[in-house]
Amino acid sequence: MTTTAPTPPGERSTGTRWRTLAFPAVLVAMVVAWFGLSAMAGGGTGTPATGGAADAPLDATQEQAVSAFAAVPAREPDCSAGTVRLTFDDGPNRQITPAVLDLLEQWQATATFFVIGRWAQAEPDLVRRAVEEGHTIGNHTWSHPDLTELAPDGVREELARTSEVIATTTGSAPQVWRPPFGNHDAAVDAEAEALGLDTVMWDHGTDGLDWKGVTPEQITQRVVGNARPGSIVLLHDIHQNTLDALPLVLEGLHEKGLCAR
Ligand SMILES: [Zn+2]
Repeated sequence: MTTTAPTPPGERSTGTRWRTLAFPAVLVAMVVAWFGLSAMAGGGTGTPATGGAADAPLDATQEQAVSAFAAVPAREPDCSAGTVRLTFDDGPNRQITPAVLDLLEQWQATATFFVIGRWAQAEPDLVRRAVEEGHTIGNHTWSHPDLTELAPDGVREELARTSEVIATTTGSAPQVWRPPFGNHDAAVDAEAEALGLDTVMWDHGTDGLDWKGVTPEQITQRVVGNARPGSIVLLHDIHQNTLDALPLVLEGLHEKGLCAR
């Protein structure tokens, strides 16, 4: 974005001086360009102009793009010790989820996003992007209530409405769900089952406790320290500390030979 600041009155003389300096510079540039063209025309004696583009030095934009790519190389996943399941609840979130997806892509890791229906409806592009990048979308109810306090009709609406938004957004209905706060009972389970939803909880040890405002290092310590093959990791893609922890978590899991699937 280019913004043009108004020139304060006191600086007008500088602008004029700059223009008088710039004019001869333009003339010089034109002369140089003319000589350059003449040299090219004269030098074309039977040598085909191939390979020029490949040998040419990169311009500033190209160099920037190359160095940005080199700074975040894709990491080869290591599943030698087994796999863990990364799960992210309560999104999608415009501030956090895109960066979570970028990091997962960098590590070639896949995760399950248990989305809240109303946020999924508000951010359909993020839900679609997650699916396009190989992730799974799960149902985490429409508005995150404690379902054990609702009548069966209320439970059904919370789940059905969310499954419907996911289906219309991604083209397929979710097959997994997670109860808010982990609270469910037989009546709740019956409603979920009627919608074809399997319940996915998480492991106590690999609960990141990110929602408690702990530091990225504490999240990493809990998750990586307790991760075993088959662990289900609980994180939330709505918190900055979760996002800050994720590179450390992915690196730590990688060092243990655990990949996220
Ligand atoms: Zn939740």
